[in-house]
Amino acid sequence: MLNLVLFGPPGAGKGTQSAMLVEKYNLIHLSTGDLLRGEIAAGTELGLEAKKLMDQGILVPDAVVIGMIRSKLQQNPNAGGFIFDGFPRTVAQAEALDYLLNESGTSISGMLALVVEEEELVSRLLNRGKDSGRSDDQNEDIIKNRIKEYNAKTAPLAEFYNHQGKYTAIKGVGKIEEISASLNDAITAM
Ligand code: AMP
Repeated sequence: MLNLVLFGPPGAGKGTQSAMLVEKYNLIHLSTGDLLRGEIAAGTELGLEAKKLMDQGILVPDAVVIGMIRSKLQQNPNAGGFIFDGFPRTVAQAEALDYLLNESGTSISGMLALVVEEEELVSRLLNRGKDSGRSDDQNEDIIKNRIKEYNAKTAPLAEFYNHQGKYTAIKGVGKIEEISASLNDAITAM
Protein backbone atom coordinates (compact mmCIF):
# COMPACT_ATOMS: atom_id res chain seq x y z
CA MET A 1 0.00 0.00 0.00
CA LEU A 2 1.30 3.45 -0.88
CA ASN A 3 0.31 6.01 1.75
CA LEU A 4 1.72 9.48 1.11
CA VAL A 5 1.64 12.66 3.13
CA LEU A 6 1.88 15.66 0.81
CA PHE A 7 3.22 18.40 2.99
CA GLY A 8 3.86 22.11 2.65
CA PRO A 9 2.56 25.55 3.58
CA PRO A 10 -0.70 26.97 2.18
CA GLY A 11 -0.15 27.75 -1.50
CA ALA A 12 2.73 25.28 -1.94
CA GLY A 13 0.82 23.40 -4.66
CA LYS A 14 -0.41 20.39 -2.67
CA GLY A 15 -3.81 20.32 -4.38
CA THR A 16 -2.36 20.55 -7.89
CA GLN A 17 0.24 17.87 -7.28
CA SER A 18 -2.22 15.59 -5.45
CA ALA A 19 -4.37 15.41 -8.56
CA MET A 20 -1.40 14.11 -10.56
CA LEU A 21 -0.37 11.59 -7.89
CA VAL A 22 -3.94 10.28 -7.46
CA GLU A 23 -4.12 9.51 -11.15
CA LYS A 24 -0.66 8.00 -11.52
CA TYR A 25 -0.70 5.80 -8.41
CA ASN A 26 -4.44 5.19 -8.11
CA LEU A 27 -4.69 6.66 -4.63
CA ILE A 28 -7.63 8.02 -2.67
CA HIS A 29 -7.21 11.74 -2.06
CA LEU A 30 -8.02 12.87 1.47
CA SER A 31 -7.89 16.65 1.94
CA THR A 32 -9.20 17.84 5.29
CA GLY A 33 -9.60 21.35 3.82
CA ASP A 34 -11.88 19.94 1.07
CA LEU A 35 -13.78 17.82 3.60
CA LEU A 36 -14.32 20.86 5.83
CA ARG A 37 -15.47 22.98 2.88
CA GLY A 38 -17.89 20.14 2.04
CA GLU A 39 -19.31 20.34 5.58
CA ILE A 40 -19.68 24.13 5.20
CA ALA A 41 -21.45 23.73 1.85
CA ALA A 42 -23.80 21.15 3.39
CA GLY A 43 -24.55 23.56 6.23
CA THR A 44 -23.75 21.06 9.00
CA GLU A 45 -23.12 22.08 12.62
CA LEU A 46 -19.50 20.93 12.26
CA GLY A 47 -19.13 23.05 9.11
CA LEU A 48 -20.54 26.14 10.79
CA GLU A 49 -18.16 25.81 13.75
CA ALA A 50 -15.16 25.11 11.49
CA LYS A 51 -15.94 28.07 9.24
CA LYS A 52 -15.49 30.53 12.11
CA LEU A 53 -11.90 29.33 12.55
CA MET A 54 -11.12 28.84 8.86
CA ASP A 55 -12.22 32.41 8.13
CA GLN A 56 -9.55 33.61 10.54
CA GLY A 57 -6.86 31.30 9.18
CA ILE A 58 -6.77 29.31 12.43
CA LEU A 59 -6.56 25.50 12.58
CA VAL A 60 -9.72 23.64 13.57
CA PRO A 61 -9.42 21.32 16.62
CA ASP A 62 -7.43 18.11 16.17
CA ALA A 63 -10.38 15.94 17.25
CA VAL A 64 -12.53 17.28 14.39
CA VAL A 65 -10.10 16.49 11.57
CA ILE A 66 -8.93 13.22 13.11
CA GLY A 67 -12.58 12.11 13.28
CA MET A 68 -13.09 12.96 9.61
CA ILE A 69 -9.98 11.03 8.56
CA ARG A 70 -10.93 8.05 10.73
CA SER A 71 -14.31 7.72 9.03
CA LYS A 72 -12.80 8.10 5.54
CA LEU A 73 -10.32 5.30 6.29
CA GLN A 74 -13.17 3.12 7.54
CA GLN A 75 -15.22 3.86 4.43
CA ASN A 76 -12.38 2.69 2.15
CA PRO A 77 -11.11 -0.62 3.59
CA ASN A 78 -9.95 -1.91 0.20
CA ALA A 79 -8.08 1.18 -0.98
CA GLY A 80 -4.76 0.69 -2.76
CA GLY A 81 -3.39 3.69 -0.87
CA PHE A 82 -4.10 7.21 0.28
CA ILE A 83 -2.67 10.63 -0.28
CA PHE A 84 -3.10 12.92 2.72
CA ASP A 85 -3.24 16.58 1.68
CA GLY A 86 -3.36 19.26 4.37
CA PHE A 87 -3.39 16.55 7.04
CA PRO A 88 -1.68 15.99 9.44
CA ARG A 89 -1.08 19.61 10.49
CA THR A 90 -0.05 19.04 14.12
CA VAL A 91 2.06 16.45 15.91
CA ALA A 92 -1.11 15.15 17.63
CA GLN A 93 -2.70 14.60 14.19
CA ALA A 94 0.41 12.81 12.92
CA GLU A 95 0.42 10.52 15.95
CA ALA A 96 -3.28 9.79 15.47
CA LEU A 97 -2.70 9.00 11.78
CA ASP A 98 0.09 6.55 12.63
CA TYR A 99 -2.23 4.91 15.15
CA LEU A 100 -5.18 4.66 12.73
CA LEU A 101 -3.06 3.24 9.89
CA ASN A 102 -1.38 0.81 12.27
CA GLU A 103 -4.82 -0.44 13.31
CA SER A 104 -5.47 -1.27 9.65
CA GLY A 105 -2.10 -3.02 9.37
CA THR A 106 -0.47 -0.33 7.27
CA SER A 107 1.64 2.83 7.69
CA ILE A 108 2.83 6.03 6.03
CA SER A 109 5.22 5.23 3.17
CA GLY A 110 6.71 8.69 3.06
CA MET A 111 6.19 12.40 3.50
CA LEU A 112 6.89 14.67 0.54
CA ALA A 113 7.39 18.30 1.53
CA LEU A 114 6.92 21.00 -1.09
CA VAL A 115 9.29 23.86 -0.28
CA VAL A 116 8.23 27.37 -1.38
CA GLU A 117 9.32 30.68 0.12
CA GLU A 118 6.82 32.85 1.96
CA GLU A 119 6.65 35.81 -0.44
CA GLU A 120 5.75 33.48 -3.31
CA LEU A 121 3.05 31.79 -1.19
CA VAL A 122 1.25 35.05 -0.44
CA SER A 123 1.15 36.09 -4.09
CA ARG A 124 0.03 32.61 -5.23
CA LEU A 125 -2.79 32.55 -2.66
CA LEU A 126 -4.02 36.05 -3.49
CA ASN A 127 -4.09 35.02 -7.16
CA ARG A 128 -5.91 31.77 -6.38
CA GLY A 129 -8.46 33.76 -4.33
CA LYS A 130 -9.53 35.64 -7.44
CA ASP A 131 -10.62 32.37 -9.14
CA SER A 132 -11.46 30.03 -6.25
CA GLY A 133 -13.68 32.49 -4.41
CA ARG A 134 -12.25 31.10 -1.16
CA SER A 135 -12.59 33.85 1.42
CA ASP A 136 -9.45 32.71 3.27
CA ASP A 137 -7.44 33.26 0.04
CA GLN A 138 -8.62 36.82 -0.51
CA ASN A 139 -7.28 38.69 2.50
CA GLU A 140 -3.58 39.15 3.13
CA ASP A 141 -3.97 39.21 6.94
CA ILE A 142 -5.77 35.84 6.91
CA ILE A 143 -3.12 34.40 4.59
CA LYS A 144 -0.38 35.62 6.94
CA ASN A 145 -2.23 33.99 9.85
CA ARG A 146 -2.39 30.69 8.00
CA ILE A 147 1.34 30.83 7.33
CA LYS A 148 1.94 31.72 11.00
CA GLU A 149 -0.14 28.70 12.09
CA TYR A 150 1.84 26.57 9.65
CA ASN A 151 5.20 27.73 10.99
CA ALA A 152 4.15 27.29 14.63
CA LYS A 153 2.19 24.04 14.54
CA THR A 154 2.74 22.25 11.24
CA ALA A 155 6.39 22.84 10.29
CA PRO A 156 7.58 20.71 13.28
CA LEU A 157 6.09 17.68 11.50
CA ALA A 158 9.06 17.69 9.13
CA GLU A 159 11.16 16.57 12.09
CA PHE A 160 8.49 14.05 13.17
CA TYR A 161 8.73 12.27 9.79
CA ASN A 162 12.46 12.83 9.42
CA HIS A 163 12.90 10.97 12.70
CA GLN A 164 11.03 8.03 11.12
CA GLY A 165 13.27 8.25 8.02
CA LYS A 166 10.27 9.27 5.90
CA TYR A 167 10.92 12.92 5.03
CA THR A 168 11.84 14.16 1.53
CA ALA A 169 12.04 17.86 0.63
CA ILE A 170 10.97 18.75 -2.91
CA LYS A 171 11.55 22.13 -4.55
CA GLY A 172 8.01 23.48 -5.02
CA VAL A 173 8.91 26.29 -7.44
CA GLY A 174 9.19 25.90 -11.22
CA LYS A 175 7.12 24.20 -13.89
CA ILE A 176 4.30 22.00 -12.56
CA GLU A 177 5.61 19.04 -14.63
CA GLU A 178 9.11 19.43 -13.19
CA ILE A 179 7.75 19.37 -9.66
CA SER A 180 5.64 16.30 -10.52
CA ALA A 181 8.76 14.58 -11.88
CA SER A 182 10.66 15.28 -8.64
CA LEU A 183 7.76 13.84 -6.63
CA ASN A 184 7.71 10.72 -8.81
CA ASP A 185 11.46 10.25 -8.35
CA ALA A 186 11.04 10.51 -4.58
CA ILE A 187 8.22 7.94 -4.60
CA THR A 188 10.25 5.55 -6.72
CA ALA A 189 13.08 5.84 -4.18
CA MET A 190 10.80 4.93 -1.22
P1 AMP B 1 -6.60 23.98 3.33
O1 AMP B 1 -7.64 23.85 2.28
O2 AMP B 1 -5.83 22.72 3.57
O3 AMP B 1 -5.69 25.17 3.10
O4 AMP B 1 -7.36 24.28 4.70
C1 AMP B 1 -8.17 25.43 4.88
C2 AMP B 1 -8.44 25.64 6.36
O5 AMP B 1 -9.11 24.50 6.90
C3 AMP B 1 -7.21 25.81 7.23
O6 AMP B 1 -6.74 27.15 7.27
C4 AMP B 1 -7.72 25.33 8.59
O7 AMP B 1 -8.50 26.34 9.21
C5 AMP B 1 -8.65 24.19 8.21
N1 AMP B 1 -7.94 22.89 8.15
C6 AMP B 1 -7.75 22.12 7.05
N2 AMP B 1 -7.09 21.00 7.37
C7 AMP B 1 -6.83 21.07 8.71
C8 AMP B 1 -6.14 20.22 9.63
N3 AMP B 1 -5.56 19.07 9.25
N4 AMP B 1 -6.09 20.62 10.93
C9 AMP B 1 -6.66 21.76 11.34
N5 AMP B 1 -7.30 22.62 10.52
C10 AMP B 1 -7.39 22.28 9.20
